[in-house]
Amino acid sequence: MSRFSKIGTLPPIEVFALNKAYLDDPHLDKVNLGIGAYRTDDGKPWVLPVVRKIEQLMANDEGLNHEYLPMLGLDSFCLAATKMVLRHDNPLVLSGLAFGVQCLSGTGALRVAAEFLCRQLGYTSVYSSEPSWENHHLIFKMSGFPNTRTYRYWDKVNRCLDFDGMLEDLNNAPENSVIILHGCAHNPTGVDPTEEQWKKIADVIKKKSLFPLFDVAYQGFASGDPDKDAWAVRYFASAGFELLVAQSFAKNFGLYNERAGNLVFVVNSQECIAPIKSQVSIIIRAMYSNPPNHGARIVASILNNADLTEEWKQCLKTMADRVRDMRILLRNKLESLGTPGNWQHITSQIGMFSYTGLSPSQVEKLILKYHIYLLKSGRINMCGLNSRNIDYVAKAISEVVL
Ligand code: PLP
Repeated sequence: MSRFSKIGTLPPIEVFALNKAYLDDPHLDKVNLGIGAYRTDDGKPWVLPVVRKIEQLMANDEGLNHEYLPMLGLDSFCLAATKMVLRHDNPLVLSGLAFGVQCLSGTGALRVAAEFLCRQLGYTSVYSSEPSWENHHLIFKMSGFPNTRTYRYWDKVNRCLDFDGMLEDLNNAPENSVIILHGCAHNPTGVDPTEEQWKKIADVIKKKSLFPLFDVAYQGFASGDPDKDAWAVRYFASAGFELLVAQSFAKNFGLYNERAGNLVFVVNSQECIAPIKSQVSIIIRAMYSNPPNHGARIVASILNNADLTEEWKQCLKTMADRVRDMRILLRNKLESLGTPGNWQHITSQIGMFSYTGLSPSQVEKLILKYHIYLLKSGRINMCGLNSRNIDYVAKAISEVVL
């Protein structure tokens, strides 16, 4: 009898299990619409040319080494990343009231945020949208939050934002609840509030003394314009909120496995800055001691150079345009095949994902009969579509819906 025999097996994480099933599937026409990563029209991962350029320079730079970074990370990266989300001339950044801490990509930034909010501020309730990126609940639960709750977000019938439901649920949340907001390109629905709606959300959060935590995993990837995609965060910061922003550089720099992330604190008192940094240092020290250098160096090199930043913005546009083109193509094909239902949401949603509205049984059929892999919720990664597979996918969707 092993001392480990009492340990049960948990169900696999859907998105990774799906990816494995796709990789193991020998079928020639298989299509991967599951995992959230960019693919070129040839179905290949893409190293952004501007990233490759920096990596080549780094490879030849004898001055670089593999020394440890400080616990809070690479300063030049944290500042550039904070400026990227709040604007380079934001008075909060210039005064130091907004500052960043390097973390292990977006997930790590959320985890450090959750640990900090639980341990240091004693917050106990967190709300994420229903549906949301499924890791939000897990991260906050593992960080000690006893109450992980949801606010309504998706109107299933009309396939749009359930704005009234969202406001009602936020209104009913207890004081000091942490409210996770997707800064742009909501995952999984692809539906963001309008600017007017954001203002009303901010009003409720202020009135009810809730705490906003922005999850920004797709800045620039959503619209192709990083400033446009940062509108909501910047609005909240300018409205005087103290808040946190968890930034990921996985999608917008194509640095998925380099784990480059930044946790931005926006506070309203200079006196709080040193204590926050010391407490966050201890949280990081106990979890992984210090972050990795490679991705942060790349992001800092690009964002701290105007020409390279322009090159990066062109890459963003390439990715965002391809996603938009695939949306248009998929909708057109579904409509021209006479697929029952309304497919307008495919083009009105934004970002990497589309919440198709396909039912679990339709999804199952797509996987088993057509070898098209997508999440049970009906979420598809638009980047998995390309000029070679789009006819096959549209036809298959049409057939399972009929
Ligand atoms: N938040 C959302 C909404 C996401 O979709 C993702 C990635 O899929 C992340 C955070 C974090 O990703 P990573 O840890 O790879 O930066």
